[in-house]
Amino acid sequence: MFSIHHLDIAPLASAGGTVRLPGSKSISNRVLLLAALSVGHTDIVDLLDSDDTQVMLAALAQLGCRLEPQPDGALRVHGLGGQLAVREAALFLGNAGTAMRPLTAALALLASVHSGTFALSGIARMHERPIGDLVDALRQLGCPIECLGTEGYPPLKLGDGLAHNLRLDQPIRVRGDVSSQFLTALLLALPLVAQQQAIVIDVVGELISRPYIEITLNLLEKFGVRVQREGWQRFTIPAGSRYASPGRLHVEGDASSASYFIALGAIAPVASGSDGITIEGVGLASIQGDIRFVEAARLMGAHISGEANALHIRRGAWPLKAIELDCNHIPDAAMTLTVMALYADGPSTLRNIASWRVKETDRIAAMATECRKLGAAVEAGADFIRITPPKAWQAASIHTYDDHRVAMCFSLAAFNPARLPVRIEDPKCVGKTFPDYFETLFSVCHTDTANIPVICVDGPTASGKGTLSVELATRLGYHLLDSGALYRLVGLAAERAGIATAQADLREPALAQRLGNLAAGMQVRFTGQQIFLDGADVTEAVRTEAAGMAASRVSAVPEVRGALLGLQHGFRKLPGLVADGRDMGTVIFPDAPLKVYLTATAAQRAERRHMQLIAKGIAANIDNLLVDLEMRDLRDTSRAHAPLKPAADALLLDNSELNVEQSVQQVLSWWQGKTVFSSN
Ligand code: C5P
Repeated sequence: MFSIHHLDIAPLASAGGTVRLPGSKSISNRVLLLAALSVGHTDIVDLLDSDDTQVMLAALAQLGCRLEPQPDGALRVHGLGGQLAVREAALFLGNAGTAMRPLTAALALLASVHSGTFALSGIARMHERPIGDLVDALRQLGCPIECLGTEGYPPLKLGDGLAHNLRLDQPIRVRGDVSSQFLTALLLALPLVAQQQAIVIDVVGELISRPYIEITLNLLEKFGVRVQREGWQRFTIPAGSRYASPGRLHVEGDASSASYFIALGAIAPVASGSDGITIEGVGLASIQGDIRFVEAARLMGAHISGEANALHIRRGAWPLKAIELDCNHIPDAAMTLTVMALYADGPSTLRNIASWRVKETDRIAAMATECRKLGAAVEAGADFIRITPPKAWQAASIHTYDDHRVAMCFSLAAFNPARLPVRIEDPKCVGKTFPDYFETLFSVCHTDTANIPVICVDGPTASGKGTLSVELATRLGYHLLDSGALYRLVGLAAERAGIATAQADLREPALAQRLGNLAAGMQVRFTGQQIFLDGADVTEAVRTEAAGMAASRVSAVPEVRGALLGLQHGFRKLPGLVADGRDMGTVIFPDAPLKVYLTATAAQRAERRHMQLIAKGIAANIDNLLVDLEMRDLRDTSRAHAPLKPAADALLLDNSELNVEQSVQQVLSWWQGKTVFSSN
């Protein structure tokens, strides 16, 4: 994932292809807890790896639960068998409601029965998310619980280190109209103390988000506890309940995450050569309530067909049809409808969404504010939002409120008919449930190549282009083309094929053609910092001075340059590219919106190269380096084909007196000046 401040998404034109979704957050965290409470071990397959599950895993490990990754990718959780391995712990739960609520219930009960005491806390937003109704329910049972900050909110202290008798003979009353997670928490925890007698839970008020309760009941059953239910008001946990591991359990793809790709399929024209969007890992047999987003998307016009474990989506009605919908049954996925509503033929109203206000952020306020930035008219109330599509779309920098769903939703605004880019602030917040969201999105989205931004960084050898380019690419979340590495690879391939590049006359037509063929036939793979040539790791080999000299020689051969053209163009992919080389701005990407020509004095560059080599433990002589460097400059600038020179529209940056950060900031500020976004 990007370590970046914001991500600019170019206007997108079409979409098509297959995505596999990460595991469901709701299922993952419930299953982790159930496995930890069970007798025996559970192998969990396709567990979601995200911030929220990391929080739960760290908490379980702290509680003494042994977690053992298996060779087949499953995670083996060794259950604690309803006992406490650790009697005292302070758990930090970030902003993971799916960890805070059930752990509160389970640990409050276990602490009371087994003389424990636990402190549970989270980030500031977590301490603003209500938990009072759950605390009240647990106190009714006789669990000592203290709210350490504000009454009714985390942080909490559970238990007092003493054993307490629990009052389990009366029905336990819990409110169902603020968050269904309170009921889920009790349902997951109470089987721990239902050995002697049945336990009854009465829901007070209308139960919201019922599908999440269905997931809970479904998973409880997999772990051997069959809860009886009378409507949605009364739940009975039978006497003698005991969690037993099902052995192996498969986590289905996240249906809420699927909503972004269902919406994508509904909004985007079908990419040529594709059949629309296919989602694998979650389908019509899903136990997750958010799968019913499919029905809502169909109401808006999407063509959706499905199988048990997959969905296929194509754009149908266009513009989408405005809807008026009670969204209580799809609380999380319904946010995605807000963005679909921007593309509708009239105002859409989403009702019964009061729970949005107590999620990662006040989601009604957040969606209203950000949709307005795009030009929509929005009305919002305590429990509804009404969106009128923009008459004139505006370029917007979307604030994401540390809420993964806000970030994912608004990425879809990049299909706006005004063909404006969209800026997503703090994009890494998607890590809560879908760390690779943007990579997955870009893997199925298309736009005209001309729309994909490229920053060219050209300049002589050892000017610091490489370092600058890596930094720029990292901070912008863009791909990186190290074109020098490609010429180094050709040099290496030539030497390995027995061509002595220093001795031979490379202009000789047959040899030039052979070099061109070699370049065209190379199987090159870049993975992070590593470079592979024809399957072999050549990371070290291409970085040597000898490889640089060989590169400089073969790069003067027009056949080689021609052969590498397509390969280099192929790096221009969403969301954008930083291209480092000699002719990026002049030959390869002449239409790039920003071209930087980086220079420093030859003496400075020789000194930097010297320091680089010394740091790597390679002996070097600075005078020889200066001579080599000037020779390479001369060859690069004087060759007939694609000589090294600044593009006519390049911005010159002499970094002789600048450190890396200053150079990066200079280029980022030039880049910001090229975008439509104000600097916020
Ligand atoms: O940048 P680097 O030192 O890795 O480049 C190695 C050689 O490859 C350069 O000296 C230059 O001759 C050649 N090159 C080129 N065109 C590029 C990048 C590198 O000719 N775009």
